[in-house]
Amino acid sequence: MIAGDGIGPEIAAATKAVLDAANITFKLNLHIEDEIAGHESLNKYGSTVTTKLLKKVNDADGLILGPMSTYDFKDESKGEINPSKFFRKSLDLYANIRPAKTYPGLTSPVQDFDLVVVRENTEGFYADRNMEEGNGEILVTPDVAISLRRITRQCCERIARSAFELARLRKKHITIVHKANVLKIADGMFIKICHEVGKEFPDVLIDDYIVDAMAAHLVRAPQNFDVIVTTNMFGDILSDLTAELSGSLGLAASLNAGLNHAMAQAAHGSAPDIAGNNIANPFSLILSSALLLEWYSQQSKKPEFALAAKSIMASAQQAIIAKEVTKDIGGTLGTAEVGYAFAKRVMTSFN
Ligand code: NAD
Repeated sequence: MIAGDGIGPEIAAATKAVLDAANITFKLNLHIEDEIAGHESLNKYGSTVTTKLLKKVNDADGLILGPMSTYDFKDESKGEINPSKFFRKSLDLYANIRPAKTYPGLTSPVQDFDLVVVRENTEGFYADRNMEEGNGEILVTPDVAISLRRITRQCCERIARSAFELARLRKKHITIVHKANVLKIADGMFIKICHEVGKEFPDVLIDDYIVDAMAAHLVRAPQNFDVIVTTNMFGDILSDLTAELSGSLGLAASLNAGLNHAMAQAAHGSAPDIAGNNIANPFSLILSSALLLEWYSQQSKKPEFALAAKSIMASAQQAIIAKEVTKDIGGTLGTAEVGYAFAKRVMTSFN
């Protein structure tokens, strides 16, 4: 577990309290090791991430990564590497799964919905991860910059397959989001490949929307969507929208998954505007960790991890109804107090 920058240490401590409770309650035999990345690592080791850390993460069953102040990290040659990019690229965590739903007890400006954004995580407009070496952003002259976007058949195919497999477990409805009216070649390829993969899933209904219209449709009627598959940047943006529509960005859980590794990571950033005030909502990282336990249960065939994940998700719902939550979703508790109350709920959930 890497606590991260800004609000990271506060929400990571609350998450740890919940995982410790799940560990005892469901006899997980879970061992959590604390590591550092981001500003703390930059100060200590001269780099935001290290190869030693990567090796350790590689050997672990999963990683929980707290939010990082990535905007501060400008120059890789000075050790300022974006840790999210580093782990997503190094561990090939190509599928970013970002569920969002409304909760009974929480007011939302929209009708009730329950959907998942499946975002491609390893290429696209994120120029820092789409090259074998170097960065896909070029300063041609002091006044001319080019950012390269890569789209490949391999990455389209695997993200489409992840989305269709997920859709099969849900309402069997996929929405492909793209900008093929302008990015005719690259997004045209994305849609074409999604439909090709869709042929393997004839029981899944497919539709597609242009990304700008999709933003409006999500605000107007999010209940019309179930699994949304899209490229990297569109998924990043739309999932912040769906998280906020569900009640708060502080509820935004996310899992970064590949074939052999997975990383739990809240969808939001390090929120420096509220850091150190014990007001950050820890639900995002707690629920992300539940997604990791669920993933690990499938990988390891250990059902107790899925039970623990289920208990954490149910406890989140109960905590919202009991108003044992932070200010952003209508409560009065601090981050740490939410963590203790949540842990207590998980401990009693099995009785
Ligand atoms: P942000 O997501 O950190 O914050 C956006 C808004 O949401 C702020 O008002 C913040 O207070 C609020 N918010 C975020 N998380 C919250 C929580 N758990 N509880 C309550 N409110 C919450 O976005 P930003 O301010 O644009 O970025 C801050 C830093 O985070 C930047 O350095 C950015 O690059 C980085 N960032 C990192 C990640 C990541 O590590 N995955 C993702 C996005 C942004």
